[in-house]
Amino acid sequence: MDIILLGPPGAGKGTQAKKLIDVMGIPQISTGDMLRAAVAEGTELGRKAKEFMDAGRLVTDEVVIGLVEERFKKPDCAKGFMLDGFPRTVAQAEALEKMLKRMGRRIDHVVLMEVDDEELVLRITGRRTCGACGAIYHLSFSPPPASGKCKCGSTDLRQRDDDNEITVRQRLKTYHSQTAPLVSFYAGRGNLRRITGTGQTPEGVFKKVKEALAL
Ligand code: ADP
Ligand code: AMP
Repeated sequence: MDIILLGPPGAGKGTQAKKLIDVMGIPQISTGDMLRAAVAEGTELGRKAKEFMDAGRLVTDEVVIGLVEERFKKPDCAKGFMLDGFPRTVAQAEALEKMLKRMGRRIDHVVLMEVDDEELVLRITGRRTCGACGAIYHLSFSPPPASGKCKCGSTDLRQRDDDNEITVRQRLKTYHSQTAPLVSFYAGRGNLRRITGTGQTPEGVFKKVKEALAL
């Protein structure tokens, strides 16, 4: 099954993707994670991408489309994938359709998670991610089992450089102007599934996601 997890930053795409991996056995493809890996490796692409990421703006379509195209070639994508944070512009969605057509595939479901902006700001500014295993926490809403320590035992719980209030507000503006048009794009294709995430627990949202995907 080929799936897109769509929604603003902080909507819970990564949180739900990690739950879905266990149920579906298909990989999560997060362009944000791929770009952060390039930044950490100190590549030329990473250096350029970081300027856009720190400013809360989108990296160029050409760069992210290239990353996704390469990622699709890996064998773990053969049975399906869930895209998290891609596409983010209509141009990316159109490029994705072309790539999939060449592979003889199409998107089965687009799961849209909608959450109010003020809740998104609270979620993102409290987010912590484990540097060892990638687990996602929130200081108040989903705290780690022991203070400052991941379930995997690591104490490397990190806050992203772009998870501060000023950058979050810019990222939300970017979402509303450049990514929200994808809602009508996919509604027009008939495979959009809408989920309200405001005030819902991650488990409550997961139940709705599974229903949307008929799992
Ligand atoms: P995204 O991948 O869409 O940016 P994340 O999955 O990283 O979002 O979640 C953003 C933050 O919100 C994290 O700190 C996460 O623990 C928290 N979170 C995720 N889902 C919920 C929820 N349903 N209720 C409250 N907090 C949530
Ligand atoms: P995310 O981890 O999805 O919140 O993404 C973090 C940042 O990476 C975004 O604010 C963008 O700067 C960049 N980014 C991630 N995915 C994309 C994409 N599909 N298109 C453009 N920029 C992206």
